[in-house]
Amino acid sequence: MPGFEIFGDEERKEVMDVIETGVLFRYGFEGARKGRWKARSFEEELTERLGAGYCHLCSSGTAALSIALAACGIGAGDEVIVPPFTFVATVESVLTAGAVPVFAEIDETLCLDPDRIEDKFSERTRAVIPVHMCGAMARIDAIVEICRSRKLVLIEDACQSLGAAYRGKAAGTFGHMGCFSFDPVKTVTCGEGGAVVTDDAALYRAADSFADHGHDHIGNDRGKERHPILGTNFRISELNAAVGLAQLRKLDRILEIQRRHRDRLKEALARFSGIRFRRIPDESGDSATFLSFLLPDEDSARKTAAAFNDAGVDGCFYWYDNNWHYLRQWEHLKRLQCAARLPAAEFDHCPDYSAVDLPQSDSVMARTISMQIKLGWTEEDLDRRCEAMERVLRELVG
Ligand SMILES: *Cc1c(COP(=O)(O)O)cnc(C)c1O
Repeated sequence: MPGFEIFGDEERKEVMDVIETGVLFRYGFEGARKGRWKARSFEEELTERLGAGYCHLCSSGTAALSIALAACGIGAGDEVIVPPFTFVATVESVLTAGAVPVFAEIDETLCLDPDRIEDKFSERTRAVIPVHMCGAMARIDAIVEICRSRKLVLIEDACQSLGAAYRGKAAGTFGHMGCFSFDPVKTVTCGEGGAVVTDDAALYRAADSFADHGHDHIGNDRGKERHPILGTNFRISELNAAVGLAQLRKLDRILEIQRRHRDRLKEALARFSGIRFRRIPDESGDSATFLSFLLPDEDSARKTAAAFNDAGVDGCFYWYDNNWHYLRQWEHLKRLQCAARLPAAEFDHCPDYSAVDLPQSDSVMARTISMQIKLGWTEEDLDRRCEAMERVLRELVG
């Protein structure tokens, strides 16, 4: 799954390019940088790879979400539909924008269920953020249709799904903006980094300015630049961008390995009638960072996850019980524990997050196990893994 498994000379060379010039800033210093623009090159190559119109590289996936929300004009009091199964950053970015996250059901895609989004609409609903979890996509065509007909902003959180696609079109390119993360455990990593992509020139300009104190980035004298809007600092450094550039060039290789390893594991699991695989709207577009599957019920899922770990089948996540990716365990959110007064808490329409009831999502998550796909597995590792899984499942699932 993570690109850090295949660091090599390519990353080293790109980083040394930057060290040699001493220019760690992504803007300016034209004389000293000897034509080396790592952030800019990363943006160009990612734009090309995704078939997007524009890309702005930034300091993290969380920053990308904040930038996208700001650029799309989502702010104080606006309601934003989000799924309960995501990394908490999706929710945090809505809250820090001053907006109100509203949770809607997921389905067996492990992503927002388009048929249940409208349950959560109010006159304040302004945006929808589907999260393409664990390497594969939501039923994005239906979500696009809903947002179009309701004139809602659509921001895709594709932080976990670089390389995923639906009918040949890249995850992150369906909405007004798409967000990516290159944090240390993502498919492509640059240490810390993120990106927003869009086809809309005005949204791109707003994002590009917002992420760098409102600078318009016109001309080559930073002191003379104008500031069309107030912004903040979500810049990426050239060092991080350099690592990401080398990693991005390995994406196709990463995807090829992941898909091969997934196929092998999937074949072993498919022999058990008690196991169903996560629904993926376009199987050929699965980036295969994880293999996710559903057991018949909560009890067998919990037992299977534990037995897999005991049997040395590592990297299996039973999200329903862990503190990480599912609303059920987010006590800090349920109590709105914050460092400072939170805008959302001031709105009478902010839901009581401790009382959010999503039975369909609970039912899906209680049965789901996600298995991380490693790049470094050998054929013997895969054989051993399949044997161990089969031993466990023969006993527990049949
Ligand atoms: C990783 C991740 C983020 C945040 O990315 P960072 O670069 O770690 O800030 C946001 N959303 C999802 C779904 C993620 O997995």
